Amino acid sequence: MGWESIRGQDAALDLLRRDLSSGQVAGAYLFYGPDGVGKASAARLFAQALQCVGDAPPCGGCAACEKVSANVHPDVVSIGPAAGARSIKAEEIREEVIRRAHQRPNEGMRQVFIVDDAHLLTRVSQNVLLKTLEEPGAGTILILVTPNLHTLLPTIVSRCRRLRFQALARADLTAILEERLGDDADVDKLVSLGMGRLGVAMTSDVEVLSERREEAMRFLEELSAPAGRADEVALITLATERAGSGASGRNETILFLEMLRGLLRDILITREAPEAIDLWHTDIRAALAAMGERWGSAGLTRALERVGEAMRDVDGGNTNPSLTLETLVYSLRETVPAGV
Ligand SMILES: [Zn+2]
Repeated sequence: MGWESIRGQDAALDLLRRDLSSGQVAGAYLFYGPDGVGKASAARLFAQALQCVGDAPPCGGCAACEKVSANVHPDVVSIGPAAGARSIKAEEIREEVIRRAHQRPNEGMRQVFIVDDAHLLTRVSQNVLLKTLEEPGAGTILILVTPNLHTLLPTIVSRCRRLRFQALARADLTAILEERLGDDADVDKLVSLGMGRLGVAMTSDVEVLSERREEAMRFLEELSAPAGRADEVALITLATERAGSGASGRNETILFLEMLRGLLRDILITREAPEAIDLWHTDIRAALAAMGERWGSAGLTRALERVGEAMRDVDGGNTNPSLTLETLVYSLRETVPAGV
C-alpha cells in the first residue's frame, strides 16, 4: 500500500513527498493531530520510503519496503512504552535511540526511529532525546507521533518539522468505512459518532458510542437551560460519574470531553455555517440546532475553549479529573446567556 492508502491528509503527505523528492529530508518530524486519522500509518510509509531502493518510493515491492511493512527492517525502530508501562522511560530512549544513533545502519541507507505516542515520553526522556535532535547523526531520522503537542517540551517541538494531520472529512471517513466494514455495518452512525477519527470508528462499538453521546447530550441539554433553571448538582453528578479514579477514569473523562467538544462544534456549525461545513452528528441535527438557539455563538465559542482547556488539563495528568469536571460545569454555565 502506498500514499493513496491514507485519505484526507493531502497537505501533510504532499510535504513528505516534497521532502523525499527534493532530498531535503529533515532530521526530525513531528506528526500531530487527532487519534485515528492516519498519523501512525503515514509514519510507517515515510519510513518505508526512506529505506526504499525502488523507483517512486515507497515502491512497495523492493526488499527494503517488504521488510518495513513486515516490521522486520533492522533500521526502522519503533519505540513505545515497555509492556505494562504507561510512559516511555529514559532508559528506553538511551538504549533504543541514543546508542543506535551513533552506529551505522545495519543494511539500510539510514536509521529511522518512530516514537508513536510521543506524549508518553517522560520529561527526562524528552531531555535525553533532545541530545539527538541537537546533534543528529548523519542519516538518522526521528519521527514523533502524537495527538497533542502541549505535553512535549517546546525545545523538542521547535526542532522538528511539524505536520498537522486533520480530522477526516465525512465523505473520506464514509468511503473508508464502507470499504473496510462492508454493507452490514451501520456506517452512517459510525461516521457520526467517530467524529472524523477512523481509528475510533473502526474499533468502537456503536452501542457504547451511542450511550456516550446520549450522556453528553443530556449534560448539554441541562447545561444550556436558562440561568436559575439548571440543576448544577445534577450536572456535576452527571459529569463526574465517569471520572472515577486512576487511569481508566482519566481516559473516560477524556472520551466524555471529546464527545462534548464534538457536539459543541456541531451546534456552532448549525448556527454559523450549516451549508459550508459538514456536521458529524447529522442524525440529531434538530436537537443541536435547538440548543444553539439558547446558547448563542459567542457563548458556544467560549464553551469550546473551556472544554479544550479541560482536555489539556486532564490529558497533561496534572489535575484530578473529577475536580476538573466540577470546575468545568461552573465555567460552562457562565457561557450560557442569562435566560428569557
Ligand atoms: Zn521499495
